[in-house]
Amino acid sequence: MNKPVVLPWARPLWQRLVMQHQQSKLPHAILLSGHTGIGKSEFAHAFAHLLLCHRPVNQQPCGQCRSCELVSSGTHPDQVYLHPEEQGKPIKVDQVRELMSFLHSTAQQGGYRVVVMEPAESMNINAANALLKSLEEPGDNTLLLLVSHLPGQLMPTIRSRCQQVTFPFPDHAIATAWLAEELSLSHDRAEQLLSISQGAPLKAKDLFQRDLITLRASFMKSLGDLLKARITAVAVAEKLYKEDLLQLLEWIHSLLVDIVRLQADDQALSISNKDMQKMLSAVSNRANAMQVFNLLDHVQSERVSLLQRHNPNRQLLLETLLLGWVKLVR
Ligand SMILES: [Zn+2]
Repeated sequence: MNKPVVLPWARPLWQRLVMQHQQSKLPHAILLSGHTGIGKSEFAHAFAHLLLCHRPVNQQPCGQCRSCELVSSGTHPDQVYLHPEEQGKPIKVDQVRELMSFLHSTAQQGGYRVVVMEPAESMNINAANALLKSLEEPGDNTLLLLVSHLPGQLMPTIRSRCQQVTFPFPDHAIATAWLAEELSLSHDRAEQLLSISQGAPLKAKDLFQRDLITLRASFMKSLGDLLKARITAVAVAEKLYKEDLLQLLEWIHSLLVDIVRLQADDQALSISNKDMQKMLSAVSNRANAMQVFNLLDHVQSERVSLLQRHNPNRQLLLETLLLGWVKLVR
């Protein structure tokens, strides 16, 4: 039977919450926030599992009781996983209303009732308003775990009704060791993968498993070719706009942050995209700092807009950003 694994960097937080639980001091709602790709979701599901287990062993679910069986088969009646029905769409008010009837019923296995909602910021305004009511009177032995990497986009009234917990960003050495073991990679390879994933180990794992390394390589090559005017922004946008756009934006963002770092200190041991150092140095030498910041803002606002499920013209969005990239050296 599957037992959840608590990621090494999350163990202190795990112990803290387990302690709160043992002292019957768990709040009704926790807002678990932190960077993407560092294990918030896994943590929330594991903790939900622990609360539902009838006979935890060493602060872990036993993996053998009736409740653990139901969790493993995804059919536990006292557990709700609330997420957008389609990826990229909001969590709707009807989904939250269903949740409320769940919260007003009695726990069927006689223990906790747990809700994991993610990404919590994807609730639309009606859904958020409906949720507010449940947060005021959720009933005993109930925990709502809201998982979010953009907690600032949640309504302040929702935030203030939750215990806010920041998920720890993993230490570099611990994350490298974990990644190397998880994917059977050499230490160097794991470190490189972690570096291009901004230190986020689950993002690195995902990058590896979805073979996004190939897409990244092709994207980086295109960005280099653009600077040398070997290809046009139109052509690159046409080639790539159907790919994972949020991922592409994240990569441009990360390059721009590296350029800012290089402009501040041209040694910049701290840059993320070490494999692109040559291109980054060339841009940082020629680009005007203000232009870099403007492009960074632009990328950031497009990312937020994509996350807020606006429906942009993807090709145009990418083309505009690529033109901004080219302008950095013109
Ligand atoms: Zn159990």
